[in-house]
Amino acid sequence: MARLRMFRVRSGIAKPPPPERTPAPAAPSARWDRLYDLRIWRRKPDGLRWSCLVAAQFTCAMCGRVDASHRMVADHITPHRGNMDLFTDAENLQCLCAECHSGEKARREVEERERSGGLNWW
Ligand SMILES: [Zn+2]
Repeated sequence: MARLRMFRVRSGIAKPPPPERTPAPAAPSARWDRLYDLRIWRRKPDGLRWSCLVAAQFTCAMCGRVDASHRMVADHITPHRGNMDLFTDAENLQCLCAECHSGEKARREVEERERSGGLNWW
């Protein structure tokens, strides 16, 4: 009898259904990553990015490094957060080296967000 009971219990255990495949929530920035694929941004020589780098003579606005390579970044001074006016405003662009862009600048933006209470103010 014990055997039978065990069998019943076993057979009652259904294989758990596969976990529902919900894509991981996209990082907020992923929503506007595609803006950087736009020709108005990428085009050479008159796209926003290239124009910014040329105007700055490939000089990092933060550390002064000069590097005429793909490592230089046209950075939005005021984060555009998907706002096309800010995104396409040449006056809102500065040339940064990759290190400053991912280091110091990113740190400042985090601080800024924390100061503003992490509210979505855009
Ligand atoms: Zn730099």
